[in-house]
Amino acid sequence: MILEDTSTDHLDMVTIRQQFPILSRTVKGRPLVYLDNAATTQKPQTVIDAISQYYTGYNANIHRGIHTLAEEATAAYEASRTSVQEFIGASSSEEIIFTRGTTEGINLVAYTWGRANIVAGDEIIISEMEHHSNIVPWQILCEERNAVLKVIPVMDNGELSMPAYLDLLTSNTKLVAVTHVSNALGTINPVENIIRAAHQAGALVLIDGAQSAVHLDINVQDMDCDFFAFSGHKLYGPTGIGVLYGKKDILNHMPVFQGGGEMIKEVAFEHTTYNELPYKYEAGTPNIADAIALKAAIDFITIHGRDHIRQHETALLNYATEQLEAVPGLTIIGNAGEKAGVVSFIIKGLHPQDIGILLDNQGIAVRTGHHCTQPLMKRFGIPGTVRASFAVYNTMGEIDVLVAGLHKAIKMLS
Ligand code: PLP
Repeated sequence: MILEDTSTDHLDMVTIRQQFPILSRTVKGRPLVYLDNAATTQKPQTVIDAISQYYTGYNANIHRGIHTLAEEATAAYEASRTSVQEFIGASSSEEIIFTRGTTEGINLVAYTWGRANIVAGDEIIISEMEHHSNIVPWQILCEERNAVLKVIPVMDNGELSMPAYLDLLTSNTKLVAVTHVSNALGTINPVENIIRAAHQAGALVLIDGAQSAVHLDINVQDMDCDFFAFSGHKLYGPTGIGVLYGKKDILNHMPVFQGGGEMIKEVAFEHTTYNELPYKYEAGTPNIADAIALKAAIDFITIHGRDHIRQHETALLNYATEQLEAVPGLTIIGNAGEKAGVVSFIIKGLHPQDIGILLDNQGIAVRTGHHCTQPLMKRFGIPGTVRASFAVYNTMGEIDVLVAGLHKAIKMLS
């Protein structure tokens, strides 16, 4: 059933699914149907192998050693940085800082650029659909500096109100920090327009790319964002590794973040000087294995083709939307004109968590709750949603399993 009608014009689903060992397991006696990809994606064998090859073949600390293992590890780590640079269209690998993930990237900007530039009366604009990771760091900064946090409202269809955004921009706006794709609604925001307007007002822009890096073609130079943060684990890579892109000129003028090894040029008790980019922001021994494996994840995406993956995910999204809309009592939350592979919904009279548990009993993994977007849930007047989110290895057959599972859950809960 899962592998019926599997292949699109360009992707052979049998071959793709075989690359993800976890997909062959069962849950509660049923084949796993994994639809929680916006939380984290599964990993192809090449990513798993890259981690184990590092530890079995050339485990060593990087940059400081002159022995063979250290040189091999350093070369692989830096090759991954170059691969990220090409993947997001940055002009230089110096603009690619390895972090733990999106959250750390955003906090890095808040603690360095933010503390150096935000003063009382300044304004930071975020949106009502932000993940808590792109709310709380700015809230802390604004409280500390007596600055003002402004919020772009979300319209009933799940799109940002662009007229409201333009009204919020003033000569006091110093930063606009918005998500590229909403993890809770799937909305793709018009980031180019948002960035252009912010720049005209003299503000910098940080784009939270946690959900977009895996679904959309990213070119930070065309987009012209000042910062772009994303996480490896949401694009078939490991947990614990992410990327902060920043324009070189801006990064060069920002104060350092954490102090320690690697980020220094020379240390003396009287005065310490700091390393060049990107090492200035990579204090201490980094997550070498997972940074190296991130390249394997990027290779996986580029080998199969971003366009082909997007085409497949759009087909899944359209089919899921159509099938779910026909389920009695079900309302989709978020009907933006442009969406990535996320469908969030509620069912009249049923709690999302109860639905999630009954789906899990049938081997179907979805996410339920507020999705770390509590203000957005409040805006829609709901405690949470059930969210199905798609990846390259999902099939139309799996959507049929989800819909059948929902019918069963509704019967049991009614
Ligand atoms: N921003 C968005 C839109 C997200 O979906 C997430 C994770 O779900 C994050 C930020 C935080 O990512 P991480 O937990 O990998 O740092």
